[in-house]
Formats: sequence, C-alpha cells, structure tokens
Amino acid sequence: NSSLHELDPDVAAAVDAELHRQQSTLEMIASENFAPVAVMEAQGSVLTNKYAEGYPGRRYYGGCEHVDVVEQIAIDRIKALFGAEAANVQPHSGAQANAAAMFALIKPGDTILGLNLAHGGHLTHGMKINFSGKLYNVVPYHVDEKTNLVDMEEVERLAKEHRPKLIVAGWSAYPRQLDFAAFRRIADEVGAYLMVDMAHFAGLVAAGLHPNPVPHAHVVTTTTHKTLGGPRGGVILSTQELAKKINSAVFPGQQGGPLEHVIAAKAVSFKVAASDDFKERQQRTLDGARILAERLVQDDVKQHGVSVLSGGTDVHLVLVDLRDSELDGQQAEDRLHEVGITVNRNAIPNDPRPPMVTSGLRIGTPALATRGFTTDDFREVADIIAEALKPAYDADALKARVTALAEKYPLYPSL
Ligand code: PLP
Repeated sequence: NSSLHELDPDVAAAVDAELHRQQSTLEMIASENFAPVAVMEAQGSVLTNKYAEGYPGRRYYGGCEHVDVVEQIAIDRIKALFGAEAANVQPHSGAQANAAAMFALIKPGDTILGLNLAHGGHLTHGMKINFSGKLYNVVPYHVDEKTNLVDMEEVERLAKEHRPKLIVAGWSAYPRQLDFAAFRRIADEVGAYLMVDMAHFAGLVAAGLHPNPVPHAHVVTTTTHKTLGGPRGGVILSTQELAKKINSAVFPGQQGGPLEHVIAAKAVSFKVAASDDFKERQQRTLDGARILAERLVQDDVKQHGVSVLSGGTDVHLVLVDLRDSELDGQQAEDRLHEVGITVNRNAIPNDPRPPMVTSGLRIGTPALATRGFTTDDFREVADIIAEALKPAYDADALKARVTALAEKYPLYPSL
C-alpha cells in the first residue's frame, strides 16, 4: 500500500515533471485538454481491478453490480448529451471506436470513402498502413485547392463512381464545419452508411455551438479526451436499429474486458459537459481560435509568408499555412516550444515539404479555455505566436509573457 513516490520514485519523478510541464507552458495541441480532478479520481479508482466482459445486466463475470451502475450512467448521460438512440462507451480509444464501427457495418474488401490524411482526415479514415487502409478499398476525397474546404462535388462524384458501402465524414485537422445533411443525401443516393467521426468537435456539439451530426448519421464515433474534456477513450453512438451490431463488434468483436475505471471517468466528464460552465468554456474555445486566426492574417505576419488555411476558423483550431514562409512546420513548432507554447506541425493540403517537416502548424484553444483563458488572454497568446513566427523574435521576452499567462491561471493547484 505504498504511495507511488515510495514504491517507484523513478516513475513518480517523471509524472511530477509532466505535471510541472503542463503547469508552466501553454498547451495548444488541438486534440488535447485538461481533465478535471474528479475525472482523474474516477480513472484512478478501484474500478481498474474489475473484469466486466459483456454489457450492464449481461456480464460474463460475477460481482459486476457496481460497475453496471457506472456504465449505465455513462450510457444514459451521453445519449442525452447528443440526443442519440444508443451508445457504446467501451471503446478504449477513438481508433478502436472507428475500428469497431467499421467492423459492425461493412466487410473486408468493401469500399469506403474518407477524407485524405494530408487533407485533414484521420489515420483510421483509410490511411494505407492503418487497419482501415489494409482491410478496406479506400477512395479518398479531398479539400478544394482554392478554398481548402471539403469538395462536396468530388464526394458526390466519387460516391456515384465507386458505390462505397460506407462514407466517413470527420477530420483531425480542418478549421470549418462539415455539411452532414449533404453527406447523408449522398450516402442515401448510393446506399452507403454514413459514419461521422466527431472526435475533434464533440465538445462544441455538446455545447450547442456546432451542428450535431447525430440526426444525420447512421453511426457517430468520438473520442472523449479532446474538446469533450474527459479521460482518454472512445464512444460509439448509433441508431437503436444498429445498436446490437455495434455492441457485438466492440465486444467480443474487437475488445475484451472494458476499462470500467475509464468508463466511470467518462461518466463524470459527460456530467460536466452538460453544464452551463462547459458551454461557456466552449464559447471561449471558439472565441480564442477566431482571435488567433484574425491575428495571424494581419500584415505584420503576412509579409513574412504566414497565412491561415481557409482564411479563418469555425472551430477550436487554426491551421497555419507556412508554404510561403522561410520557416517550415518543424522550425515553427520548435520556436513556439522555445517560448513555452506547445503545438504540432501538420502537413497541409498539397504540402511541398516532406511529412516529417511539413508547411503547417495546427494550433488549438481547448486546453487554454479549460484553464480559464478569456478573450483578452487569447489576444495576448495570439500576439505572442505572431511575434514568434517573425524572422526576428525575442525568445526571452516572449517566454516571460508566456510565463505570466501560465502563472495567472494555476493548473491543478491541489496536485
Ligand atoms: N478520430 C479522429 C478524428 C481523431 O482526430 C483521432 C485522434 O487524433 C482519433 C479518431 C483517434 O483517437 P485515439 O487517439 O484515441 O485513438
């Protein structure tokens, strides 16, 4: 019964160092967030000890009466949050949710349509060496070269030509909203299922600040740790008609025992996501991204070849276009790291630089909004980033401004 520090000082030291890193820097990786202490408490609970193969009320193990309560709460809460008929809260991650949803709906060798990885899609939407690219015949769609918006005419043309069994709508790096009704119309025309992967924007949907894909899609998958702000994990929402197929695709199709401690943490985060505070936080997330996009299209940065894909954002992230800049994605990521801001470089559509270097940055605001940042704070962050991307920049002065912001909003003060 020793504490982590007593039993394993090596691991404890690394955990402490990570806490310090999160506290002292500005986290702007678009897929990251800070889970509430209560969520981490649930995740660190004795539920980690329990085997519970099956579903609430239908388990293959004894002693599941309490985890049944927890899992049912999680199911009921997320159904209410998104207006879904059915929910499976067991997927260990977003990738597992997508694998199970595809396993439920289509067969190996079937054709799927998904947004190309370099154009903002996720690995699980058909990347060559991912399971999705290996098991299915993938036809990628793209963003328009001029507008950088998903080319719905191409989606329709490809759907009619290739008659896919499944169309995937969703993204990991795209700054605008998708037209779910148009995707569904195309899917219906060719007899395909529509699967929406809302991993990135689920929190915005929960807050009513982004269109809800649930009424349009046969299946909606999500992660729980991005804008939604919960523990790392996945969820599948579906119609009642498909619920049985989805459940058996998750277990026993893809997974063994569910992570009931993580499911408990998911349940807590779904309660948080239904609150007015959460709504207000998602509004600040959107405001912050818009402020950042507006700052990065001003002349003082534009003259150095920096611009913003699609000219702005409707969501929680901005895609910075460095194709005309002397800075490449790697150098820009390193510069921001140097001043205490964490982002990731990102290939952009038709990127002339290699994938490990890239000509883009993906910058997101969810974690800072969770930390409490106001629109004024986001103006300061946007200005720091703009200054850091110029040829001459004062790293020490910018770092001091970052530190002042980090100290203004202490993160996890009780830890
Ligand atoms: N789907 C989308 C759209 C994502 O962006 C991601 C993660 O980046 C995933 C799925 C996969 O989630 P996970 O990393 O939990 O497997």
